Amino acid sequence: MSILLKSTENYGNVYIDGGVIAEIGCAAYDADTVIDASNKALVPGFVNTHTHAAMTLFRGYADDIPLQTWLQEHIWPLEAKLTDEDVYWGAKLACLEMIRSGTTAFNDMYWHALASARAVDEMGIRAAVSNVFIDIAGESDDAVQKENKKLTERLMKDYSDRITPALGPHAIYTVSEESLLWTAEFAREKDLLIHIHVSETEQEVSDCIERTGMRPVEYLDHIGFLGPNVVAAHCVWLDDSEIALLARHGVKVAHNPVSNMKLAVGMTMRYTALRAAGVCISLGTDGCASNNSLDMLETAKFASLAQKAAANEQTVMPADEALAMITRNGADALRTGSGGGSGSITEGSAADLLLIDLLLPEMTPLHNLSSNLVYSAHGGCVDTTICDGVVLMQNRVVPGEVEILRRASEVTYDLVNRE
Ligand SMILES: [Zn+2]
Repeated sequence: MSILLKSTENYGNVYIDGGVIAEIGCAAYDADTVIDASNKALVPGFVNTHTHAAMTLFRGYADDIPLQTWLQEHIWPLEAKLTDEDVYWGAKLACLEMIRSGTTAFNDMYWHALASARAVDEMGIRAAVSNVFIDIAGESDDAVQKENKKLTERLMKDYSDRITPALGPHAIYTVSEESLLWTAEFAREKDLLIHIHVSETEQEVSDCIERTGMRPVEYLDHIGFLGPNVVAAHCVWLDDSEIALLARHGVKVAHNPVSNMKLAVGMTMRYTALRAAGVCISLGTDGCASNNSLDMLETAKFASLAQKAAANEQTVMPADEALAMITRNGADALRTGSGGGSGSITEGSAADLLLIDLLLPEMTPLHNLSSNLVYSAHGGCVDTTICDGVVLMQNRVVPGEVEILRRASEVTYDLVNRE
């Protein structure tokens, strides 16, 4: 299927064919679909490198509550009752919100992963899908391995190429060393991404030191877990030696500024030190229970402002850098960026693209597109979303959206009232 984006403000005509950007600045070819892109800017689709998509069902359910109470009395009891059907509609709702705010790829870690994969596949975007696992509470290593092998096989076989199988050990304090070691080995053998939470809170660091004599990243290095296939979410509480270890192993850091602030983790991620060490840093929203939105432009603004405020320095994380974090860096972390993948607007790249409406107060005047996008715009400024060369939203309309909103609300009310 071919698409002609006619007269974009920043690239002229752009011709898309077979899921890739075939030609930039070309003549106005005939195409299966012609989109008038005048007064619109073309940008790469955004990449969200840490979320739990189906947690959209918990949006606004329990806010402004101390962390342990929030988890133990509100979130975990509901999660224990989740079904495939709940997760499916929660993930559909997440994908709808992502498409409407310009996200074309995300890194997911949640229960009932196959239900999420089905939702993503149907909605037309990309995701690295992992089934979160926890085995400190008595589950045997054997069960974890069997389950993950089976899920990986199904994620590889039963879904489109837009679904990338990944492994989702929850964190070092919820997964046994045996299972972490197995995860690292299995990931190397099958060339899989690993998605894990690392050093989100100070408590995690002090508990790890007490248990192992090492800080979390040192511990993960010590057991041979770290590598360029690891996407480590949070990485807030790091010391200098841990930053050097992340850089040495090419670990990808997914920074979640909104979630970190909302859950009051007590520290701003050490962005400048991580960047100086050469670590690839991208941005995530985290789940909707701790954000509560999946809007990557909002996340980029929070990230930049939090760093400026913490450093008392206006020049930290300028708009271009924040934008690269939600496009190129995210695509590199999820491996949709190399070898003709997404994250940039070049001929041969995957056609994961957005048209931003420029006829909006937020985008006027247009001195600097990156500045307007990061500091002024929001997901609602995205007019058209294209993923893998398929138009998923045009003129802010996603086919079938009312049904998704209705069903997601229905399963949520049912879940909350379920015995
Ligand atoms: Zn998380």
